[in-house]
Amino acid sequence: MTKKDCFDICFENKRNSLSAKNTKRENEIARLEKENARFAEIKNLMSALGAKTALTAISGDKGKLAELQRTLFCLNEEREQILKNAGISEIEYDCEKCKDTGYADGKVCDCIKLAATELYIKNISNTAPIDKCSFDNFDLSYYPNVDTESGNPKKRMTEVLKLVREYSLKFDPKGSESLLFMGNTGLGKTHLSLALAHELILRGYNVIYGSAYNLFARMESEHFGEHSDKSYLEAVGCDLLIIDDLGGEFISPYIQSLVYNIINTRLLARKPTVINTNLSMSEINRIYTPRVASRLLGEYTAKRFLGNDIRQQKSNKK
Ligand SMILES: [Zn+2]
Repeated sequence: MTKKDCFDICFENKRNSLSAKNTKRENEIARLEKENARFAEIKNLMSALGAKTALTAISGDKGKLAELQRTLFCLNEEREQILKNAGISEIEYDCEKCKDTGYADGKVCDCIKLAATELYIKNISNTAPIDKCSFDNFDLSYYPNVDTESGNPKKRMTEVLKLVREYSLKFDPKGSESLLFMGNTGLGKTHLSLALAHELILRGYNVIYGSAYNLFARMESEHFGEHSDKSYLEAVGCDLLIIDDLGGEFISPYIQSLVYNIINTRLLARKPTVINTNLSMSEINRIYTPRVASRLLGEYTAKRFLGNDIRQQKSNKK
């Protein structure tokens, strides 16, 4: 489900809920008109007076106009009182700002934005634990503070966490750099990517997050099955694309060119992408062809995650 789908669903929900409220009130008023003769009479009087008032306003007879307006006012007061006695209240809107229309001051109302964002995050959480991943719960205590040949895991990961946090704060959908997270499984690449996605989605950016397996399988089946490139176009056009576990998908010549096209199109449009992979650069070179490897090497900021498999450490603890 795309961000736009979420907005469409939320608008639809609002429309349905408002229309149910309106219908309920209209039915109650129609019933009252049948049961209460005075209430029905007021309706007719007010409508006749309304027309008369309009004509009098044009004629310029100010005294007459004021008298008509007073009568209308009194009738309306009486009508309100009958409604109140019958227990028929004004419509209670969920959002006073947009009166449940979804638009306020000609813009999409915050209530819709919030509902669509929540729905979008909920949808991602069906396939990845986005709701459980934040920068704050990225636990640095799992990374040993020892110097190894590749570096000190604690120092490296402290630096990576800081980099991604700052990246999210300064995020620019038309200029932020693209990131490549490398390293073995269980070192927090997915956690950090989800935390970044979570943060930016909450701030209203259109972020697409998915495993390479899911993203590419969907694009391939749409392309060949439905002759549509909807998911591909959304992936190249969104504010931030996060591809988790590049190399975890089934590789075919179609996927190879898809990966290149996505990476290259987004680079040309200066749109940032974040890629996670367990593969080394030489494996990327071999699997996705040198042109993909050269784009990643030349244009992405690569960070190698260090440490010992956190999932392993957690299961050893239990
Ligand atoms: Zn609203």
